[in-house]
Amino acid sequence: MNSCRAVFANKIVPTLSKTWSRSFLTNAKKLQQTQPAQSTTTDGPRPLTLLTEDERMMRDTVSRLATEQIGPYVREMENNGFIKQSVVDMLFENGLMGIEIDTEYGGAGCNFMTTILTVEELSKVDPSVGILVDLQNTLINNIIVKLGTKEQKEKYLTRLATNTVSSFCLTEPSSGTDAFSLKTTAKKDGSDYIINGSKMWISNSDIAGIFLVMANANPSAGYKGITCFIVERDTPGFTVAKPENKLGICASGTCMLTFDNVRVPESAILGEFGHGYKYAAGFLNEGRVGIAAQMLGLAQGCFDATIPYTMERTQFGQPVFNFQAMQHQIAQVATQIESARLLTYNAARLVEAGLPFAKEAAMAKYYAAEIAQQATIKCIDWMGGVGFTKDFIQEKFYRDAKIGSIYEGTYNIQLSTIAKFLKQEYKK
Ligand SMILES: Cc1cc2nc3c(=O)[nH]c(=O)nc-3n(C[C@H](O)[C@H](O)[C@H](O)COP(=O)(O)OP(=O)(O)OC[C@H]3O[C@@H](n4cnc5c(N)ncnc54)[C@H](O)[C@@H]3O)c2cc1C
Repeated sequence: MNSCRAVFANKIVPTLSKTWSRSFLTNAKKLQQTQPAQSTTTDGPRPLTLLTEDERMMRDTVSRLATEQIGPYVREMENNGFIKQSVVDMLFENGLMGIEIDTEYGGAGCNFMTTILTVEELSKVDPSVGILVDLQNTLINNIIVKLGTKEQKEKYLTRLATNTVSSFCLTEPSSGTDAFSLKTTAKKDGSDYIINGSKMWISNSDIAGIFLVMANANPSAGYKGITCFIVERDTPGFTVAKPENKLGICASGTCMLTFDNVRVPESAILGEFGHGYKYAAGFLNEGRVGIAAQMLGLAQGCFDATIPYTMERTQFGQPVFNFQAMQHQIAQVATQIESARLLTYNAARLVEAGLPFAKEAAMAKYYAAEIAQQATIKCIDWMGGVGFTKDFIQEKFYRDAKIGSIYEGTYNIQLSTIAKFLKQEYKK
């Protein structure tokens, strides 16, 4: 048993019901005995949907956790506008907030694909929980793992893996797509820096304890002064406003942050001084694979909730699923979802292989966000009038899907990124 599986098995199994724990272990054993070697081999090309044994076990376990321990609270969390503390605790207890963090810091020590599968499974049930887990893993943890000093890793990764939610803070009221025109400054004062300014639309900031903040520490150098600082929630002068009232992912707290002479030590700088713009641009590429997984899960979750209804609902003496017009639309959406899955998994495998993936990540995010909107619209159509009510989950998925074309780079930006690569590829 490798470290990833061992950690998940230790963390997850004790928190599940006894019956489920037993069946999890029995099934896991059966899987080990019955799965052919092909599922774990790394030799040669493999179908993108063929997961390793570890990945499959994690996916199935997260799926079960999401259904049993998040599903019952989805509407309550949406109505209340925040994710229940018991759900956040469950995510930490089961290692889902530190999936790729090394076991020496209390993480699960798994691979990027496991993060992607986790975000997909959670988003099938609640995309707000999906984005909480996605940002923690693909952005904040990832940045600290790759750029943190030994001291920073010891101080922050242990908390991020076990009990502290975090936020990634780039956007400001006047700088969204044009992110590097940000106005928040960090002025040197002795051995400290004093941060002033504001950030907008910061996900998970309602409950976060650790914030990665992009601030310009040398405005005369333009965007090359942008530096990444680690800021703790209780730092004097730092305030988090009340969450925005949004169209979708309502349980995910999106707030404005204000920095009023926030003093941080030089040791709060993450990575190199003046390299913040590089880090933001680079790590957001990985983040986009996570958003693609969120949108993919959302589309699949909505589809899964809808097809059984079309098989039960009868008109003209037969299930509405039987009409060819319905079947063709359903087949089309199933194909779109599978296409999004292949793009997303491919981008994730490229990340793991250390190969270029920026174009593929943009394609995955663009396409998954697009088909999530289309799939949820279609699902509401297939439900007829009841799909238009709040008694069914389809309308929530429909509203939640809209964010996929906005955050971590809008549609236009994904398309511009793809076009930039195409231009290079076709240049004579
Ligand atoms: C719910 C939510 C959560 C978020 N979470 C975070 C977070 O955790 N951290 C964070 O830092 N940010 C976060 N954001 C911010 C998000 O990344 C920005 O909203 C997004 O980048 C777009 O910026 P903007 O809203 O200022 O739109 P604008 O940049 O004002 O864009 C408006 C329109 O103009 C288009 N446009 C702008 N420039 C160009 C161009 N060069 N070419 C073509 N079209 C262009 C855009 O595509 C868009 O259609 C979040 C936003 C939301 C809504």
